[in-house]
Amino acid sequence: MDTLNRRTFLAASAASVPFLSAMSSASSRASQPGPSRPLAISSRNGTPAVKRTMELLRGGADPLEAIVAGITLVEDDPNDMSVGYGGLPNEQGVVELDASVMHGRNHKAGAVAALQSIRNPAQVALEVLRRTDHVLLVGEGALAFAKAVGFKPQNLLTDQAREAWLRWKQQLNPRDDWLDKDQQVDTKPARSGGGGPPPHIPFTHGTIHCSAVDANGDLGACTSTSGLSYKLPGRVGDSPIIGAGMFVDNEVGSAGATGRGEAVIQSCGAFQAIQHMADGDDPTEACLRVLKWIAEHTKRHDLLNDRGEPNFNVIMYALRKDGAYGSAAMRKGSSFTVHDGTQARHEPCASLFE
Ligand code: ASP
Repeated sequence: MDTLNRRTFLAASAASVPFLSAMSSASSRASQPGPSRPLAISSRNGTPAVKRTMELLRGGADPLEAIVAGITLVEDDPNDMSVGYGGLPNEQGVVELDASVMHGRNHKAGAVAALQSIRNPAQVALEVLRRTDHVLLVGEGALAFAKAVGFKPQNLLTDQAREAWLRWKQQLNPRDDWLDKDQQVDTKPARSGGGGPPPHIPFTHGTIHCSAVDANGDLGACTSTSGLSYKLPGRVGDSPIIGAGMFVDNEVGSAGATGRGEAVIQSCGAFQAIQHMADGDDPTEACLRVLKWIAEHTKRHDLLNDRGEPNFNVIMYALRKDGAYGSAAMRKGSSFTVHDGTQARHEPCASLFE
């Protein structure tokens, strides 16, 4: 089945031009040197993760164990406010983390969602995979499990994340009891200038995904996030949903997603990407097809721009069993991380729209 030819693509020509240009740049990569293994790809924030993953893969580690060790470094970094310790909290100021892992050779997954107080949800997801007959544990159950297997609870809300949350809360509603920044009573010594209206603080997305293949062609994947900033408590994004935020088929490849989780859940994004690769698409084409599907199925007006294109970003990542890889974003300007055994580098994502 060729969905690209059979489906009308949004507002036909205007939208299809960037898609086709991305597709042709995808096929021009065929002339580049062939795929190599081991290989790791990650979201843009994943440089430390792919370096660690590659180091461990070279020493013969299992791909998934190597990936989780790599992602742990990013979860531990308080300055990455999209993941783990220091992640932005929910609307009540509580950090809730989501993560999933999948092991190619065993075709077993593990995940945790809305996990509080544990800084390394990817490791907890790996324990769900290893120690339980289940795939996904949530909320209090996930925390109880994490404690039972030895993880130590701690406060995950750094001052930096708390202050960002407070700024967001203050400007939420002009009639609530929190004074906006420009209304606050200044008790400091008088100073000149300053001010202007407070900046609008948007919700922010951010996540780490990493997929890797070892020298034998065995795959693994992990996606870890603090999710949408200031979300409703209990909101779960795509990252811990198997087939949405990541998926592995050891016969085909591995895929993952970052960006607007609601769109990725409602498209089974990572699973779709794997199916497209199984049907013969190269990894970049597979990513673009998922984005195209999301664009076609985005119906809410508040999620579309005046050209009828999604006004949010989703980035898809795909790694084929032979080491071929690709990534695509809804629009231009995103990049991802690759480690091919020689060095970690950023490469531009293909894009569906200009
Ligand atoms: N996909 C994540 C979520 O929706 C957030 C992100 O990647 O920006 O929870």
